[in-house]
Amino acid sequence: MTYTSTPATHHATGLAGRALNAAHAHRATDPGGFTHRHDNSPQWTRWKRRARVARTIAAALQIPISRVTITDDTQRDYRARSGEVPGDLITITDRPAARRWHFIPDLATPGDGWLMIDSCPGCGAAVPRTRIATLADLGDYLNPHHPIQHPEEFHSDPAHLAGCNAIQPPPKHNT
Ligand SMILES: [Zn+2]
Repeated sequence: MTYTSTPATHHATGLAGRALNAAHAHRATDPGGFTHRHDNSPQWTRWKRRARVARTIAAALQIPISRVTITDDTQRDYRARSGEVPGDLITITDRPAARRWHFIPDLATPGDGWLMIDSCPGCGAAVPRTRIATLADLGDYLNPHHPIQHPEEFHSDPAHLAGCNAIQPPPKHNT
């Protein structure tokens, strides 16, 4: 038998229909994470935590939660008690505009804010460009008349290409 799609989604309505659509969307965008979420306790914990992150950012940006998917951030590692772990890459799909927006957690305010990923003006790589906590922050970033002040994470991001002229060296700390 060949598994092609979920025909049931065309017939089910209400909560059942939305649930089938949500499962189908997760399996398409994050097959690894979705398929293995019950494999062990850490996987289920990560799944639940990412569900909370999705609810929070959906509320902050006033979008339906079904537009948010969270997958492993393959560019950046985060330290946990168990060692280096993949971070969260939050993707918001804006269906009418067919645009995808990417965010990573803002570790300065975990759970309350994010760093928006956008093209670096120097090298074009996808790097953190601004801190976002509300829809207004995003609007301010998108306003071409407002200067963009890059967060520290912009300069230290590992995704910049070699020789990028937009990054500044890390500040010297007095020790
Ligand atoms: Zn760059």
